[in-house]
Amino acid sequence: MSADEPAPLSLDTQAVWAAEAGPFPFGAAVVPIVQAATFAYQDLESWRSVALHRRAGHIYSRNSNPTLEVLERKIAALDGTESAAGFSTGMAAISSTFFALLSPGDRLVSIRDSYGGTNVLFEEFLPRFSIEMCLCDTTDMESIESEISRGCRLLYLETPTNPTLKVVDIERLARAAHAQGAIVVTDNTFATPCNQRPAALGSDLVIYSATKFLAGHSDVLGGLVSGSAELVRKIYHFREIAGATLHAEAAYAILRGMKTLALRMARHNSNAQAIAEHLSRHPKVAAVHYPGLANHPGHGLARRQMRGYGGVLSFAPRGGLAELATVLDRLRLAQRAAHLGGVATTAGPPSVTSHVELTAEERARAGIPETLIRYSAGIEDPADLIADLDQALGAL
Ligand SMILES: *Cc1c(COP(=O)(O)O)cnc(C)c1O
Repeated sequence: MSADEPAPLSLDTQAVWAAEAGPFPFGAAVVPIVQAATFAYQDLESWRSVALHRRAGHIYSRNSNPTLEVLERKIAALDGTESAAGFSTGMAAISSTFFALLSPGDRLVSIRDSYGGTNVLFEEFLPRFSIEMCLCDTTDMESIESEISRGCRLLYLETPTNPTLKVVDIERLARAAHAQGAIVVTDNTFATPCNQRPAALGSDLVIYSATKFLAGHSDVLGGLVSGSAELVRKIYHFREIAGATLHAEAAYAILRGMKTLALRMARHNSNAQAIAEHLSRHPKVAAVHYPGLANHPGHGLARRQMRGYGGVLSFAPRGGLAELATVLDRLRLAQRAAHLGGVATTAGPPSVTSHVELTAEERARAGIPETLIRYSAGIEDPADLIADLDQALGAL
């Protein structure tokens, strides 16, 4: 860095400024929502030069859109990657990544605790295309390494996991995967770039359900993939054809949410930590899962790999399904909903949230307890949330 070059901006500053310094059309201070389905040209020559990628510009919003492009540049900046592509949902980003990068006969290595929808891709759809699947015990790094060494085209990670918050060693597994020439993909939805930078740990691609913490207000769906220009180009090309592109309006809503991402994540982190500590001392609680707890099996790794432990925890009230229902029904400051990452606290059991796509038997096989409550701490006052949990647990 030369003496007059400014110091690199912190993530908190980038969350506000990255890709949004302008100038924007009409002198607008924020990026306009470019609602256009298509883009019109005055002469064939300039139209052709944009269509043939000789000049920057847009042709049709299934392929690219100016508002979406700002969001793509923003997540790439926050992730420290070269490029990004936006999708209509997180699942569209995940499935498009697989269909863009895998071919029949390829072997995919992943963990058993991936997001429910991702797991359905692994169990139901990818095998139909003759992709060989190997789903490993999420916390057994040695067995994952040994499966990788048997051949691996794509290593798919997610950490912390849903809903038991297991922690996976990205750097160690990425090293093993790269030795096999594999592509490493990490779902970073729970952590966000504020808490974890998978690209810096060796992940080639970073995936988000932007629906969750990135957007943060429970009012929009979206998905993002960021990584090297070369890999993102392939995924982008698949998106142009498969068509699960993010709408400009949704891109704008996610951009607006992301400006406060660092502020929100700081509060999500501290709220979840305070609640997890409180619940782990509570006589009516049988188990608490949160990587910020010193007795969590992944705590040491999380401390090395993450800058904050995130807003999601899970806990099991003492008893069975009746007690689970009692506690959930009595909560006042939690939306009982299949969602997480919003400013308002949400709570629900895996059977109707993260793992609704699985049968009870499949959940049991995946080690997902039916009596667990996944709790996504919002940005409310932690004392109010703790009092609410206490009154709900007090009914047991
Ligand atoms: C919600 C979620 C997804 C899927 O995202 P959608 O936007 O709902 O399609 C993928 N991974 C994780 C970890 C999630 O929480």
